[in-house]
Amino acid sequence: MTKGTASMGKKSGGKNHIKCRRCGKHSRNISTGVCSSCGYGKSARLRAYKWKRPSKR
Ligand SMILES: [Zn+2]
Repeated sequence: MTKGTASMGKKSGGKNHIKCRRCGKHSRNISTGVCSSCGYGKSARLRAYKWKRPSKR
């Protein structure tokens, strides 16, 4: 018997996001193929929202 919770092994291995071809971020989902950062795979345009306003002074 081991001490403590031995489930940390489940945290390693599979990954859900890969590097995006358009924005270069590590936010593209493998299963859906959609980038969560720029929306690559979902729309031809960049993913943009009003509530995510740029740093404007
Ligand atoms: Zn992207």
